[in-house]
This record gives sequence, C-alpha cells and structure tokens, in this order.
Amino acid sequence: MQFAKRLDRLPPYLFVDINRRIADLRAKGVDIVTFAIGDPDMPTPSHIIERLCWEAHVPANHRYPESDGLPELHDAIAEWYESRFGVKLDPNTEVLPLIGSKEGIGHIALCFVESGSVVLVPDPGYPVYSMSTMIAGGQPHYMPLTEERGFLPDLDAIPESVAGKATLMWLNYPNNPTGAGASLEFFERAVAFARKNDVAICHDAPYTEVYFEGKKPPSFMQAAGARDVGVEFHSLSKTYHMTGWRIGMVVGNKDMVRALFTVKSNLDSGIPQAIQLAAVEALRGPQGVVSHHNQVLQQRRDRLVEVLQRIGLHTRTPDGTFYVWAKVPEGYTGVELTRELLEQVHVAVTPGIGYGAEGEHYIRFSITLPDDRLEEGIRRLAAWRGGSR
Ligand SMILES: *Cc1c(COP(=O)(O)O)cnc(C)c1O
Repeated sequence: MQFAKRLDRLPPYLFVDINRRIADLRAKGVDIVTFAIGDPDMPTPSHIIERLCWEAHVPANHRYPESDGLPELHDAIAEWYESRFGVKLDPNTEVLPLIGSKEGIGHIALCFVESGSVVLVPDPGYPVYSMSTMIAGGQPHYMPLTEERGFLPDLDAIPESVAGKATLMWLNYPNNPTGAGASLEFFERAVAFARKNDVAICHDAPYTEVYFEGKKPPSFMQAAGARDVGVEFHSLSKTYHMTGWRIGMVVGNKDMVRALFTVKSNLDSGIPQAIQLAAVEALRGPQGVVSHHNQVLQQRRDRLVEVLQRIGLHTRTPDGTFYVWAKVPEGYTGVELTRELLEQVHVAVTPGIGYGAEGEHYIRFSITLPDDRLEEGIRRLAAWRGGSR
C-alpha cells in the first residue's frame, strides 16, 4: 500500500505509555481518579433530550438533512448571538451549523492552507489547529502563550516575514488548556493585525458560557471589524453538555462561511435533523442550566486550586473553561509529574506537552468529574509527598 506522505508528517501520539499504564493499573483493580478528560460529567438538560426523542419519531427527520442546516437552526443561532452578545448576524450568509465545531476547525484548513502555507497557532493550544494545518500541507508557526502575558499571544513578536506569509491565525478564549480569558480590546488588536497582514482569523470559542464569578466573556464577533477579517467557531458541546450529540456552528465573515460550506458540502451530508432541532430547543429554551453548571464548576475550581497551591503547584485561577493549568515544581517535567501522581496517589492528569512545547512544565487538570470523585482526588493530591527530588 502507498499511504500518503501527509500521514508521516503528523507527530506520534504522546500519551501511549501513560494511557497503557492507566489501563494496567485499572486491570489490577486500582481505583484511579481521573482529571484527564475534558468532557462534562453532568448530563444534557432533560428538555433538550425530550425534544430530541420527539423529533426522532418524525419521518421527515429520518431522511438526509440539508447539508447547510435547517433554516430554523440558522435563525436560532443568530437570535442566540444577538441576545447573548448583542451581535446581529445574517442567518443565511453569516451562520453555518457544523457537526461539532471540531469538524469545521479541521475542514477550514482546506480553505486557507496549501503546500507551504503558514498558519499562526497558539502554543499551548487545542491540537486540531496544528494537525489540520499539517494535514492540509501547511506549516504551523507557534505563538507562545505565557503566564506573564496572561496567556495571550504577543502579536508584535510575530516576525514580519512570518506574518507576511501567514494565511490564517487561530485564537481561543476562554482558553483550553490555560483557562485564561481575553478582552475585547485584545480581539480588536487581533483585527488590526489581520488587516495589516491580510491574515484571516479563526476564533474558537466553545467556552464563552463556562465562566466564573458571573464575568461573561466577550465574543470575537463583538470586536469592531471582526466580521471583515474572521469567523468564530462555537459549539453546544460545552454550553449545554452536548458533546456526544455533535453539534456546533461557525459565524462571521460571509466569504469564509461560504468557502467552508463549499468544502463541507462535498465531504459530509450535514447534521441529523433531530439533533438540529434539539439544538434549536437548547438555544431558545430556558438558559438557567448554564449558571447552574457554572456554580458547580466554580466550587470545584476553587477546591482544586486551593489544594494545588498548598502542595506547591503554582496555578493561576482560571477565568473560564473546565481546566486548571498548573506549573509543576522545580525539578520535574509535566510528564514526570504525571507519572509520579499516577504511581504514588493514583491520580491521572494530562501532561502539558500534549498542547505544545510551552506546556512542558505544566499539567492540565479537568474538573469534569463528579464532586465525590473530585474530593477523593483532592485528598490524594494533598497526600502526595512531592519535592522529594
Ligand atoms: C471541546 C473543544 C472543541 C470541540 O468542540 P466540539 O464542538 O464538541 O467539536 C473545540 N475547541 C476547543 C478548544 C475545545 O476544548
């Protein structure tokens, strides 16, 4: 067989050994508390499930969906953006439903990346930005996100030669894995950068509804000029605990939305219609679940950050998301500490290096585990005898 060379360009999956070790320990009956999975533990709200079940019985929803999505869903997305962010979108031309936002994040590379193209990618960052770039034949240029800069990229530090070649820039706030938020002022600087360098912006925003202390994060689309230069990917996954249903959206620049639809309409056949209608229910239905989820998550965040500080893992309190990004003590790499926590106290975390080179001395905790498991994990972390090096 002659496999395409693009497969060889992808880096090997890093966590093979750690995952094997977790599986071995579990096979021996060891109880592992895992902070390694970024997927809501609380179920999809029941009014959404009820609509899905109802719509599943309707024969019209058994047939191929329209690949650009139901007009009702386009409308519901536009209404939600207006009520949540005060952003008015044309539901026909500035909104496109996706089979989960990851699908669109992957496919948009095919609209902007050719062999040798440069894409500006945050480090650390969600791995799909760089992987989709490489699959399409392009080259990521990494923008370091450091704590000193609030985990925002330094746009002035991007060399002109790189900015001149770049076709796309990825941003993601509230940020996975650092938990940092960004201001509208930062987004406006990004718009200026995009204009100056003729770079399209993709803002990945699945966590705008996962925030703490009632401080609602902005949408990139609120920034002046955003729709001239970019789009925003959003999702129902994290907002309504619908990761398994696979539904998200892209909104913003018409030409970018149309280009993505051109690629998608040739590769997929849209989102099952019952799921689209469940999404309409989620977006138009009662929104109280969002603040309820956030209260639960805020308590978990505070419990975890407190114990991490106590055991010497320096941690900036996250503004949003499910993640706590903790710096490992002197003398460890993130991978070494991950192994030690697994062996000594049977706690699983994710080594930061999985999100990029800047993550080498970090580990990521996800707080999407039930409260009793979180408390058990906290007891174990408090018992960890670190710093023995
Ligand atoms: C979860 C996540 C996504 C993907 O969400 P789906 O809509 O479920 O595909 C995209 N970006 C980031 C940063 C995420 O954490």
